[in-house]
Amino acid sequence: MRRGRSALVTPPQTAFRKTTGALGRPYAAAMTELSTMSGFVPWPAEAAARYVAAGYWEGRAIGSHIADSARARPDAVCLVDGPMRMTYGELMARADGAAARLAGLGIGAGDPVVIQLPNRWEHTVLTVACFRLGALPVWTMPQHREHELAGVLGHTGARAIVVPDVYKGFDHQELAHSLDVPHVLVAGSEVRAGSVSVAELCAPGDVSFDADPPDGTHIATFLLSGGTTGLPKLAPRTHNDLSYSVKRMVELCGFGPETVYLAVLPLGHGFVNTGPGVLGTLIAGGRVVLSPSPAPEVAFPLIARERVTATSTVPAIVQRWLAHAGDADLSSLRLVQVGAARLAPEVAARIRPSLGGAQLQQIFGMAEGLVCVTRLDDPDKIVHHTQGRPISPADEIRVVDEAGAPVAPGSPGLLLARGPCTPRGYYGSPEINARAYVGDGWYNTGDVVRQVAGGNLVVVGREKDVVNRGGEKITAEEVETFALRLPSVAQAAVVAMPDHDLGERICLFAVATPGETVRLPDIRASLLASGLARFKLPERLIVVDTLPLTGVGKVDKKALRGRL
Ligand code: AMP
Repeated sequence: MRRGRSALVTPPQTAFRKTTGALGRPYAAAMTELSTMSGFVPWPAEAAARYVAAGYWEGRAIGSHIADSARARPDAVCLVDGPMRMTYGELMARADGAAARLAGLGIGAGDPVVIQLPNRWEHTVLTVACFRLGALPVWTMPQHREHELAGVLGHTGARAIVVPDVYKGFDHQELAHSLDVPHVLVAGSEVRAGSVSVAELCAPGDVSFDADPPDGTHIATFLLSGGTTGLPKLAPRTHNDLSYSVKRMVELCGFGPETVYLAVLPLGHGFVNTGPGVLGTLIAGGRVVLSPSPAPEVAFPLIARERVTATSTVPAIVQRWLAHAGDADLSSLRLVQVGAARLAPEVAARIRPSLGGAQLQQIFGMAEGLVCVTRLDDPDKIVHHTQGRPISPADEIRVVDEAGAPVAPGSPGLLLARGPCTPRGYYGSPEINARAYVGDGWYNTGDVVRQVAGGNLVVVGREKDVVNRGGEKITAEEVETFALRLPSVAQAAVVAMPDHDLGERICLFAVATPGETVRLPDIRASLLASGLARFKLPERLIVVDTLPLTGVGKVDKKALRGRL
């Protein structure tokens, strides 16, 4: 059913000025209000007071930091997308114009807006617009389909979704209108009745949101963490903690006005936006160049043309880059970050010599907050062989055994984390929190690490049941649940299968229903038709008579992985 066309009206600014700003009020009061309102788990007042006293939490909105850059150099180019070059002045005029028009649609402070756009300038303008308004930009992948989008829209209670008209042959606008969300905002030339034109929404306006920024304690965004069968996990990141994390990364990466950052990873990911990424570059006063694809034939000419100094990738991409570097002009590159999945030391060692002399930085981060990085002046031994150490002096980590006791130094164990950038719970998910947070606010990362001399971590495995497919996390249970809906599948178990290019791919072990035949193409077609994103489809099927069980009667995935 189509709704009536959403009208774009710009109201006078006073009409959408928030009345609930918690600026200046004690943290505890603001947090009590937030948690009662929203299912947000606050940091304890004592920890929050420490982070404020240390200057980590500045009580400022992310959009205000970006506005500072714009005030300092309004005529500097800050965003490049193909032939489009946008200055800081224009970015703020467009973002504030969009914020006012979003308010005209009835979207206000605290309202989530799901952004499902590929790497194009509207993504960044709308992200900044949401931050300025106090709305929450929720970034999601263009590959997500009905299942993922319905989950995110439902759980966040989003007031709008932003989609391309058609992208890679898929009609996003049509899908968006079939979902339960008040407003569909469409980027592209084919804006149908009932949709709002993002081009019109993002036209420069003559309003300013300087006067009434969101409070530092307010939620700035929900970062999505690996899917589940039920609700998606939303990491609620406040303006305080996210600004600190991004600004600390700016510092550790040496970003400044001279930085030219190439966004090659999809903007649906937190890493490319916050690590320090697009937002860090804008806070540092630098320039963001958007790449529509990470493919070397697209990214390399952009690096040469724009004299790109920094970028972030995942191992699968950097391997392709190494294979194709040839005589490409990558001489401007100073920093290449690699994260989201394990980087082999042999690959790490080839980066500087092959990619224009750029320094490698390994990054081990998560939506849930903790970010570890190697430092720019670390010796190669550390940079090639470890995934770095926490970015904040106030980050606390523990490496523990199954009983929760610390392991001997250097031994592998489960990583727990707590700190000024690590929220104390997923949004509105008390049951998931009861498992993921193990007491006193410690977040169980599900990663198995070794802590080596100097405090650096080496990621050696994981306890959580996910497949890390080229940096994209797929929850095994989610795929299993979909597979079990096929009448021919009696039992299903998904495991990661080692892969040269992507690190891991999805393998499905299945027990067939008596008298039925299970075939991979049928499973893939069925899962796709059920609205699951294509990157979650099993890539190999092994039909077995029975699934091996552990002593406690669970499917023994270790044994299954051993068979691969
Ligand atoms: P996400 O929240 O989707 O960014 O996923 C975070 C997870 O990705 C971590 O908990 C790790 O399991 C994995 N991860 C991130 N960075 C690395 C890395 N450098 N090496 C190995 N695994 C990583």
